[in-house]
Amino acid sequence: MSETNPTRPAGQVTGESEVAELCRDLIRIDTSNYGDGSGPGERAAAEYVAEKLAEFGLEPQIFESAKGRASTVARIAGEDPSRPALLIHGHTDVVPANADDWTHHPFAGEIADGCVWGRGAVDMKDMDAMTLAVVRDRLRTGRKPPRDIVLAFLADEEAGGVYGARHLVDKRPGLFEGVTEAIGEVGGFSFTVNENLRLYLVETAEKGMHWMRLTVDGTAGHGSMTNKDNAITELCEAVARLGRHEFPVRVTKSVRHFLDELSDALGVELDPEDMESTLARLGGIAKLIGATLRNTAQPTMLGAGYKVNVIPGQATAHVDGRFLPGFEDEFLAELDSVLGPRVRREDVHSDKAVETSFDGALVEAMQIALKAEDPIARAVPYCLSGGTDAKSFSELGIRCFGFAPLRLPPDLDFAGMFHGVDERVPVDGLTFGVRVLDRFIDAC
Ligand SMILES: [Zn+2]
Repeated sequence: MSETNPTRPAGQVTGESEVAELCRDLIRIDTSNYGDGSGPGERAAAEYVAEKLAEFGLEPQIFESAKGRASTVARIAGEDPSRPALLIHGHTDVVPANADDWTHHPFAGEIADGCVWGRGAVDMKDMDAMTLAVVRDRLRTGRKPPRDIVLAFLADEEAGGVYGARHLVDKRPGLFEGVTEAIGEVGGFSFTVNENLRLYLVETAEKGMHWMRLTVDGTAGHGSMTNKDNAITELCEAVARLGRHEFPVRVTKSVRHFLDELSDALGVELDPEDMESTLARLGGIAKLIGATLRNTAQPTMLGAGYKVNVIPGQATAHVDGRFLPGFEDEFLAELDSVLGPRVRREDVHSDKAVETSFDGALVEAMQIALKAEDPIARAVPYCLSGGTDAKSFSELGIRCFGFAPLRLPPDLDFAGMFHGVDERVPVDGLTFGVRVLDRFIDAC
C-alpha cells in the first residue's frame, strides 16, 4: 500500500491507508455555511481535527470567533527552527447542498466507484484529509519537517472568511509568527495534455472582488401617467449596458506564464485576444481560465416596485464585479463610465486581488514532489477567478500558493464539481496527494 515507506510492516496504518476515511469522516460532519452563522458543524469539525492531531502529540488550539465558528491551529516543530515557517491551511466549511439532486447523499461520505462522494470532496475536505493524513503519518513515524509548519483548519471561507482566516489574521497574528509561505486551495490538480505531459495548475494569483449595489433615484408617481424619470427604466438600461459590456483582455504575470507553458506544451502559439480557440483546447478547466483574462461585472440581483400601478422612486441592482491583480482602478473607472452618471454605486463587500511569482525553492519543491510521483508532471502557475483565504494570509506578507495535489482522470469535470452536484474525489487522487505532500514537506 505505502510507496513512501515500503519497509513498514503490512497492515500498519499509513497516511495513504487512512486518507479516504478521514475525508469521509469530515464530509459526514455537515459544515454547511449559509453565510448567517446558522450552519451546524464548524465546531464539530474543529474538534475532530484537533483530536486527530492531538492523538500523535501535537497541541492544537481551537479558536472561536463567534459561537460555533471554530478554527483549529497547530504548530509542528521543524528540524531547523531558525528557518521561516510554512503555513498549510484549509477551510472546513462547505457550501450547502440539496440532497434531492445528488446520486449519493451529500453528507453521507459514501465511497463508490472509486470515489469519495459528498459536499466538500474537492472543496476542500480532500486537502484537509490529505494534510491530516500526512501529518499524522509523519508524527507516527517520527519524521520531523525540515522547518516549522503551522497548520490551520478554518471556518467560514465560503462566506468570505470573516469568522475564520480573517479573524485569526486580525486578532491572533502571533499564530503565524515567522510564516513566509503558505499552501492551500485552489490548485495542484492535474490537466492531462497527452500521454507525455500532465500539467498541474498551481494557483499564484487571485482576482479581487467588488460586490456592489447600484441605485437609481427617479420620480415616483401613478402608473397611468407619463413619466420621463422612471427609476426602473433608467436602472435597467444601465444594467443591460453593463451586462453586455466586454472588458478588454489584460494579461497578468500569472496568466502570461500559464499561456507560455501551455503553448509550449501544446506546441502552438496562443493568442490571448483569441481565447475562444485556446479555451476550446482546455476542456473542463476552461471555466477556470476563461475568467482570468479580463475584469468582469455580472448583474446578479434586481429590486424595485411594490404595485403594478405605482412607479417607484427608486430601483436597485446588485453586481458581482471581479478585477485582475493590478487592474482595480481601471476596472472601477470603466465600470462608472459604462453605468453613466445616473447610477449611484456602493460596495457591499470587496476584497483585494493577490499575486505572487512562480519561482523560488518552494516552487522547486512542488516540481520535485510531483515529478517523483508522476514522471510526466509539470507544475504551472495560474490565476484563480474567485477568492480564498489566501487574501487574508497575504496581508501578513505571506506568499500564498494554491497547492492541494490531485492527479485526476482526464475525463473528470473537476472545475464543475466546485459547489456543484455530485461532488466527488477519486480515492487514488487522495493517496497520490498524500504521497506528493509528504515528499513536498521533505523538500520544503
Ligand atoms: Zn474552497
